[in-house]
Amino acid sequence: MTLLELEQQAQAAPKPSALSDTADNLVFGEGNPDADLVIIGEAPGEDEDAQGRPFVGRAGQLLDRILESGHVEREDIYITNILKYRPPNNRNPKPDEILASEPLLLEQIKLIRPQIIATLGNFPTQYFAGTKDGITKTRGKWFEWRTIRVFPMFHPAYLLRNPSREKGSPKWLMWEDIRTLKETLDALGPKPASSLVIDSAQQEGLF
Ligand code: URA
Repeated sequence: MTLLELEQQAQAAPKPSALSDTADNLVFGEGNPDADLVIIGEAPGEDEDAQGRPFVGRAGQLLDRILESGHVEREDIYITNILKYRPPNNRNPKPDEILASEPLLLEQIKLIRPQIIATLGNFPTQYFAGTKDGITKTRGKWFEWRTIRVFPMFHPAYLLRNPSREKGSPKWLMWEDIRTLKETLDALGPKPASSLVIDSAQQEGLF
């Protein structure tokens, strides 16, 4: 199965009933299907729902500027959300909605095989960390999830509400974090091709 086939399958599936009244479109995610970095936000907002694309509204425009300032190209990475449908009035995702989105999210990660997942804000961070710790405590602290490095960062919508650029402010910390993320990404180098790993393992078995 490819990422495109997974998206087609998800498009054909019925909308989750709790979100079917408010969401018009599936926001599957977009970007490089072989990305080293996957960025995971919370849920689509109004603009994302209208366009069927993640992070295209105000928070998305700020995310673009953050990525640009860290020399991370949006086309090189993959961007998606924990929830694939917009919740009513942009309310917080509910635990059962996160659970319902889980199979699709896990399949996306399995197909992309990123070296790093960057989680934006509380919901995706808490999902991967398996804790209830808030983002002000967890941001900038790496942890591992199923062999993948996870890097929690502030959500750009939070930065829109906290515009100060003073030393130690959320925006200032975000500039630090995007630099750390880029440095780590560069230091890791390209990921091993899965077919090559399987090939060499098979060869070892031969002799
Ligand atoms: N906020 C998110 O978490 N995701 C989006 O796609 C847009 C805004």
